[in-house]
Amino acid sequence: MEYRELAGLFRELVDTNRKFVLTTHVNPDGDGLGSELALNRFLNKIGKQSAILNHSETPSNHTFLDYDNEIRQFVPERDANLLRDADVLMALDMNNPGRLKSLEKYFLESKAKKVIIDHHLEAQDFVDYKLIDLDSPATAEIVYRCLSAYDPKLIDKGIAEALYAGIMTDTGSFRFPRTDGDIHRITAHLLDLGVDPFYVYHNLYEENSLGRTRLLGEMLSNIELVYDGRVSRAVITLEQLKRNGVVPDDVDNFVNQAGAIAGVVVTLFFLEMEDGVKISFRSKGDIPVNELAKMYGGGGHKNASGARLTGVKLDETVRKVVSDAGKILKK
Ligand code: 5GP
Ligand code: MN
Repeated sequence: MEYRELAGLFRELVDTNRKFVLTTHVNPDGDGLGSELALNRFLNKIGKQSAILNHSETPSNHTFLDYDNEIRQFVPERDANLLRDADVLMALDMNNPGRLKSLEKYFLESKAKKVIIDHHLEAQDFVDYKLIDLDSPATAEIVYRCLSAYDPKLIDKGIAEALYAGIMTDTGSFRFPRTDGDIHRITAHLLDLGVDPFYVYHNLYEENSLGRTRLLGEMLSNIELVYDGRVSRAVITLEQLKRNGVVPDDVDNFVNQAGAIAGVVVTLFFLEMEDGVKISFRSKGDIPVNELAKMYGGGGHKNASGARLTGVKLDETVRKVVSDAGKILKK
């Protein structure tokens, strides 16, 4: 969709409705959280009723973004009526209703107009409006473009900081392939509005627990390279998580470190969960790991995808996925 059309749709949705509920995917990241905080601040500022309801708790290193406690963790008994009575439901940085988890049923059953704002491949058909840009490095960029088309003067420091965090995290601090001049020009505007890049980076990436740092060391020590060093496989067990006092959200960026090895083109990161295994897939260049993720019911981008498997054993899953990874290498 052209941005003009996309921004036009956004304006119409905003101007013709009053009550909004915003949400993002399970295990939210800086892009999902930043996008919903920016939109919530904007909507409240122009006099709309808006609330953020998420399935997951906000990861501790992201709570600084939510300095006014705008985000609520969804409690059906308390919050279901908000989803039911809203005029518009917006799901951000996601395109698959399964990733709403506890909100899914209420989201789908609501008579509100449903919207996604997103940049992932292969959106499912569960909403009325899809504001999608597959070329964008971050949902926060799409939100920025909608807001600046609506009225750039409304973007204040609080909105800018939330958008900056979304763009910074989803571009891997401005290094992933979709980082381009346009995103830097947007970022420059956000900095001009008063965002402190050190403050954002420091809170997100330099306030880790000792346990997390030690766990990273364990994971890195145990990496194995397969397929002549082209695939890196890294594993973290529940026992390791517990022994180091680390929660699953805290290991989000480990996968990139596991792949930072010369010759590695695909990284497979396995995280044992209470009820199964979460897998992160990363690739360099022209290898579509989203196809591998899809074989396991997941999805994502060509170079960064994920899947969650329930009721499976760690060892068997690792063996099987490593074997399947050989298939996409050969293509
Ligand atoms: P991560 O490995 O960082 O959890 O996820 C990488 C990318 O894959 C993200 O863009 C995310 O949207 C996508 N992704 C992660 N897990 C899932 C999943 O279970 N299902 C789908 N459809 N996409 C996922
Ligand atoms: Mn994103």
